[in-house]
Amino acid sequence: MAARNYNIPELRRLDVEHHLPAQANYAELQRIGGSRIITRAEGSTIYDGEGNAILDGMAGLWCVNVGYGREELVRAAAEQMQELPFYNTFFKTATPPTVMLAAKLAEKLGGKLQHVFFNASGSEANDTVMRLVRYYWSLKGEPKRTVFISRRNAYHGSTMAGASLGGMAHMHPIGGLPIPGIEHVAQPYKFNEGFNEDEEAFGARVAQEIEDRIIKVGPENVAAFIGEVVQGAGGVIIPPKGYWKRVEAICEKYGILLVVDEVITGFGRLGEWFGFQHFGVTPDLVPMAKGLSSGYLPISAVGVSSDIVKVLRDGNGEFAHGYTYSGHPVAAAVALKNIEIIEREGLVERVKNDAGPYFAEALKRLEGDPLVGEVRSLGLIGAVEIVAKKGTNERFTGKEGKAGPIVRDTCIKNGLMVRGIRDSVVMCPPLIITHAEIDRMIDIIGRSLREAEPALRALKAD
Ligand SMILES: *Cc1c(COP(=O)(O)O)cnc(C)c1O
Repeated sequence: MAARNYNIPELRRLDVEHHLPAQANYAELQRIGGSRIITRAEGSTIYDGEGNAILDGMAGLWCVNVGYGREELVRAAAEQMQELPFYNTFFKTATPPTVMLAAKLAEKLGGKLQHVFFNASGSEANDTVMRLVRYYWSLKGEPKRTVFISRRNAYHGSTMAGASLGGMAHMHPIGGLPIPGIEHVAQPYKFNEGFNEDEEAFGARVAQEIEDRIIKVGPENVAAFIGEVVQGAGGVIIPPKGYWKRVEAICEKYGILLVVDEVITGFGRLGEWFGFQHFGVTPDLVPMAKGLSSGYLPISAVGVSSDIVKVLRDGNGEFAHGYTYSGHPVAAAVALKNIEIIEREGLVERVKNDAGPYFAEALKRLEGDPLVGEVRSLGLIGAVEIVAKKGTNERFTGKEGKAGPIVRDTCIKNGLMVRGIRDSVVMCPPLIITHAEIDRMIDIIGRSLREAEPALRALKAD
């Protein structure tokens, strides 16, 4: 579609005057004169109002798996809007795309994960998980089982429950979080927290913290463990070999439900439909969002096991939970079409056998850079760790946290959108990204590291 003729300076002025963007420092946005206005996109490229083309190394916000400009998704939404733009699922009613999407997701989830509850966002999906799990345990006659075990530096959303389940230390003071009943244990972040340890030994040590905490809290009080398959917002933290199997065994040992947050890792990101399939574990609940509609419309879901649903049915009570937009027919129609595209174009296999391995190889070219401590990836999600001293995990200023945003800003200036998380640069491109675009992404990061080096070396401890 041709660019419309927006008045960008006016939009940026209105942005400062009236718009409060998400997860933002409003003083800083005022200082820089408002947000960058993104006006259109095609394939893996976004365009801003100043006419800059920027390669989207983040698939929007970890979500535009099939890439931008998909006419089929536009048509699916338009047709559904014309036929039935909205109906709810409160009144013993449902709509065709909603029911068909539930069946499709059950097929992709497989095994005992045969039921689906819909919401509009990943955060809402995790709120659903929290209420559903506690309701399940009360119906089972174990109402004391209320505690969730999560990890530090986890991300599970921004609602009261989502941010509490999450382990982002900077989010907790805002709103007086976490809410009660959530225990945070170690994350499987080897580069930072197990640098000189053997990989398997490190995985075993951090998994053991889960069991230790279960024993400390009392297994009779623990409802569930929740974890992202690969931590995304925490800095693309890929757990060490053996970690997930150990976590699953611990949950089984104490009869605790296993929740894997697939909001980022679902829909092909790791080279399987779901990340748990890559690690060979069998969760009881699976929150998912982002890639479900490739971000074209807001929709999320929670996959629920038949064992849990049996308890709900036996209980014969009302699960008094759900949203106006649970199972929204237009969002469901778009999600169905999105899944059809992923299937037809073989995007999951492409990530596993082609784009993922190509991305991993390309990343290796950055390993020799004097600022790079580690590169890592799984499927089409990856990170570059920036260090002050080659061969160590020492950070500039001796403290974690300053280098990522500086290199990110340089990358954006050079035509690549990435995210800077503490001292890393992370990538999560559309699953359709070409080899040439992967090469360009890596080249820009390499060039930006060189360009940002003086600024990094000039960083002062505060
Ligand atoms: C983004 C994200 C969420 C929250 O999803 P929203 O749609 O932003 O509410 C939850 N979990 C994970 C792992 C995420 O990456």
